[in-house]
Amino acid sequence: MTKAVYPGSFDPVTNGHLEIIRKAAALFDHVVVLVAVNAAKNCTFSAKERVQMLRDCTADMPNVTVDSSDGLVAHYAGQADARAIVKGLRAMSDFDAEFQQALVNRRLNPHVETVFIPAGSDSMFLSSGVVKQVCALHGDISAFVPPQALPQIIARLKAKS
Ligand code: ADP
Repeated sequence: MTKAVYPGSFDPVTNGHLEIIRKAAALFDHVVVLVAVNAAKNCTFSAKERVQMLRDCTADMPNVTVDSSDGLVAHYAGQADARAIVKGLRAMSDFDAEFQQALVNRRLNPHVETVFIPAGSDSMFLSSGVVKQVCALHGDISAFVPPQALPQIIARLKAKS
């Protein structure tokens, strides 16, 4: 069984993330979506909330599970016996940082390969940051995030703005 880990902040989940999850789920036997908890990042949603939103949005994907970790992704992947770390690429601007991270992860765990999946043309522009900015200024984010997570995202972001 070939397992992959798809790590990220997912603060909050977007349709761009979901597209990468669907593509990864079609390529691998099992995909673990990993909420990477970084205490230095000032996240809007708690790790528990991010995990639950991702679980709600991937409920129709039987080979996808969701977990969280505050450790190194390369170590998590090794412990989970994963063969790949999946990353989404939106544009050349994502490439430098992701490529460097892939090389670091290969040093940390040579048994795990990073696999890049290009963003779809409809979600190239989409990030969790864009969702937060648009919602804070009372824009419509319903085309940017999965419907299962929409009410919770709106409630939190409107309360913050
Ligand atoms: P962001 O805040 O940019 O959405 P994340 O850490 O949550 O950042 O992203 C997790 C992973 O998903 C990264 O590999 C990132 O490149 C990828 N990703 C984020 N948004 C998209 C998108 N719209 N299309 C494809 N991949 C994406």
